[in-house]
Amino acid sequence: MTGATDRSFVRLAGVGHRYDPNPAVPPAVTGIDLDIRRHEFVAVVGPSGCGKSTLLRMVSGLLTPSEGEVSVFGLPVTGPRDDVGIVFQKPTLLPWLTVRKNVLFPLKHKYGRYGRDDEKRADELLAMAGLEAFGSKMPDELSGGMQQRVGIVRALLLNPDILLMDEPFSALDAMTREQIGFDLLKIWEEQPKTVLFITHSIAEAVLLADRVLVMSSRPGTVLDMINIDLPRPRTQKTIAELRFSELTERLRKHIYEPEAV
Ligand code: ADP
Ligand code: MG
Repeated sequence: MTGATDRSFVRLAGVGHRYDPNPAVPPAVTGIDLDIRRHEFVAVVGPSGCGKSTLLRMVSGLLTPSEGEVSVFGLPVTGPRDDVGIVFQKPTLLPWLTVRKNVLFPLKHKYGRYGRDDEKRADELLAMAGLEAFGSKMPDELSGGMQQRVGIVRALLLNPDILLMDEPFSALDAMTREQIGFDLLKIWEEQPKTVLFITHSIAEAVLLADRVLVMSSRPGTVLDMINIDLPRPRTQKTIAELRFSELTERLRKHIYEPEAV
């Protein structure tokens, strides 16, 4: 990985995007500077419509910035790459394929085939996500939380160094959501990755991340970057800690009373 340093695994320099070329319309996102270190977990929070998905799509290479530059591994982003995994809010599993085949689908799609080793890795990842008994099931036999886990496992199959997640747990009920968050942390601790995690849940951001980027409402800019100095591993007990409440409170103030911070 030429050019990659621990300081700039993912780098955004003055990045922005406007969907509407009319200069009277504000851009969706503007002037974003962000450096993510290797294996760091960064969450992004901000009000609906502030440009979180736009930001993630620019890092993924699905959308070209109209200002500034995005680089990963020290190289400019020119399009989607195998070493950058993406997880969206909905897992979009193919209903006519088994869970295992869904996980293997990106390989099949890209190379037309997969081997025994790939199947073994799919099964290992499914086991790590608590789905060892479900590889041969069809997606609609699984709960929403389990389907979302399959989507995460699918994104992990090519062992990406960078994982981009756009509100991956938003469609889940609160209890499932908390549990799947802890499961994600377990996977991340076992197989470290650089994570950019979009959420509109302040508590989720604080519980999972090393740092939280707070975005302003449209046009989306960086309001603050908050260091989450809670010890790891994070558990249920983390939520009960005073420091957890202090950090969530600070973020809440930013979002609901920006002038008060
Ligand atoms: P978030 O993910 O924070 O809710 P988005 O990145 O989806 O925000 O959207 C940011 C802004 O850009 C919103 O005002 C949205 O309406 C607008 N927008 C998003 N996608 C498009 C698009 N494809 N064309 C035009 N406007 C868009
Ligand atoms: Mg979004």
